[in-house]
Amino acid sequence: MSISQLARSIAESPTLKLNETAAILREKGEPVIHLGGGEPKSRAPVDAIINCTALLNTGEVRYTPPDGIPALKKAIIRYTEEYYNKCFGTSSVIASNGAKQSIMVALYTILEPKDEVIFPAPYWVSYPEMVKLAGGVPVPVVPEDGSFCPRIEEIAAAVGSYTKAIILNTPNNPSGIVYSDEFVAAVVALCEKKDIFLIMDDTYNRLIFDNRTPTNAFSYATDHTKSSKLIVVNCVSKMYAMTGFRIGWAVSDNEEVIRAMSNIQSQQTSGPSAPAQWAAAGALNGVQSSVHSLRLTLENNRNILVERLRAFTGIKVTKPEGTFYTFPDFSAYQKDSQKLARFLLDKVRVVTVPGKDFGMEGHLRISFCGTVKEITEGVERMKWALDPNSPNELYLGDRKLVRDWL
Ligand code: PMP
Repeated sequence: MSISQLARSIAESPTLKLNETAAILREKGEPVIHLGGGEPKSRAPVDAIINCTALLNTGEVRYTPPDGIPALKKAIIRYTEEYYNKCFGTSSVIASNGAKQSIMVALYTILEPKDEVIFPAPYWVSYPEMVKLAGGVPVPVVPEDGSFCPRIEEIAAAVGSYTKAIILNTPNNPSGIVYSDEFVAAVVALCEKKDIFLIMDDTYNRLIFDNRTPTNAFSYATDHTKSSKLIVVNCVSKMYAMTGFRIGWAVSDNEEVIRAMSNIQSQQTSGPSAPAQWAAAGALNGVQSSVHSLRLTLENNRNILVERLRAFTGIKVTKPEGTFYTFPDFSAYQKDSQKLARFLLDKVRVVTVPGKDFGMEGHLRISFCGTVKEITEGVERMKWALDPNSPNELYLGDRKLVRDWL
């Protein structure tokens, strides 16, 4: 075997793989509906584009400081003041190639070999692999009551002498739920008491519905000194529909950790791409109406999707409170989520993501970041494929399908 043990232990990102499969089928002219996606379809804010093209027009696109250009760091500081009510200096901020790299370099910074990192299930697919890449051991905590959030006692019970950090992601990919303020406050307190790091993955922080207020872990922290172990990560990817720009960041009172993250990043990739950083600064400083309209679109899509899924006999849906994902339980039809996702793709050309990849079998992640037409037609096709009470025939474009498997 010529590849390393580490390389062999890392799984391919299932969501990126699905995008590839869907693209290949589409190229062949297949009427694929992609409900597996992880990015809004709106355009990047105009302020992002103006800022980015201004740099490109100079023709001078150079290396940047490894932790980001001063203009972006300033924009992040301003953003953090506005949305987290928390003031930082520049030494508390690092801009990275996406939230993904911020989390990755944070893990490299804090983990010794075999240190454990706890996160609730269902979890973002990348956490276990990222923890393993940094030499650590992922410790998912599956809620005993079948909900999407463990009780604080369950988290506390998972903390042992090797625990180095907890990662919380709220609103949560894949469940769409927002952890309660009490839960987040209790995790902050637990981490302070046990002297372990807390990485808050706030990627979907502002994509929340029903007039909720975004979670702010800093507001529960009592330690605001340089020895704080709270790291908050965010990005322009989802809220500004700027996934392809690849800009995320981390902020923390712990300047030593931020400096170490920056050192690692400087050896890994150097500073993020300069045009992307200018674009991100533009988005953060510019008019915020695009976030508002994205939120409204997603909330409307959420309502439609939940209504359709609730009319689907046998499946259990928990209404998402944020993000653009929902995570229904399909185990009444098929317990093996990978088999089910494959079946839906083969039979009715609908892409979903198997729950197994998020640490919960029997579920599928269904995205509502697409169009209303895709959502309604996608669910209709799934219902047709699975529910014996639906009519025997279905048209995919002008192709007539006859159901012969129920
Ligand atoms: N955290 C979560 C929970 C995510 O869903 C994603 C993207 N799918 C990321 C982090 C990574 O974001 P970025 O594109 O900024 O690297």
